[in-house]
Amino acid sequence: MIPQYASALLISDLHLTPSMPLTAQRFFDFCEKEAPKVEAVFILGDLFEYWVGDDAAASSPFQQEVQRAIANLSTKVKTYYLHGNRDFLIGKSFIKKTGMTLLSDPCTVQIASEKWVLAHGDALCTADIAYQAFRSWVRKPWIQKIFLGLPLNWRKGIAQHLRSNSHNQYQTQQRSTSHQVKMDVTQQACADVMKDHSGNRLIHGHTHLPAHHEESMGTQSWQRWVLSDWDLDHPESLPPRASALFIDNAGARYLDLIKS
Ligand code: MN
Repeated sequence: MIPQYASALLISDLHLTPSMPLTAQRFFDFCEKEAPKVEAVFILGDLFEYWVGDDAAASSPFQQEVQRAIANLSTKVKTYYLHGNRDFLIGKSFIKKTGMTLLSDPCTVQIASEKWVLAHGDALCTADIAYQAFRSWVRKPWIQKIFLGLPLNWRKGIAQHLRSNSHNQYQTQQRSTSHQVKMDVTQQACADVMKDHSGNRLIHGHTHLPAHHEESMGTQSWQRWVLSDWDLDHPESLPPRASALFIDNAGARYLDLIKS
């Protein structure tokens, strides 16, 4: 059965980490202030900058604090989460402790009498063939089982290595147009997902390109709402940003969490 709500807030790509305290604080405030006003809150992946296993959270005061904030929110409203490309190893234990419900990516929900298809967005970036190959490996249960069986220090080392590699690649490629195309979702992937789910409203994050698009391909047409990433900790290089998509009977609109 498809979950149904009269109102909802959707967020993604907070990339929470102890080294970004202002961003984390805005999330804690969001859990207290904005989030309890709706019926359901959806976190569409990359809540954390990285995740190397639920057992690591037990020894991290920061992850415990995030866990408590979500658990507290879950006593007030229904909370949902789906995996991002950075925190796809979030497991049953953490999900249970936060009181969230895990959704598959993509999935369908009904908010304010409209059907919405929800996704993180990385699986829609089908022009990035190398990433899709990497993704298909790291999402295999047996690979994850081997990784999670490694000592925690090794896992942290591997995560650090992957992050610095992707950071270096980003630094050298971000100015090229071909790279920008590669890092965005493709129309074909969106069309396929909308067809599979018989939907015409898509919400995803991941690309950090928040915007509302009206798109079509052949006889198909759909709305695509892209969620913003959050970053209040690097004002010297990037303007502070944090927003949520708010949906109720009046439709969908972005809620700017910096100004409010
Ligand atoms: Mn992502």
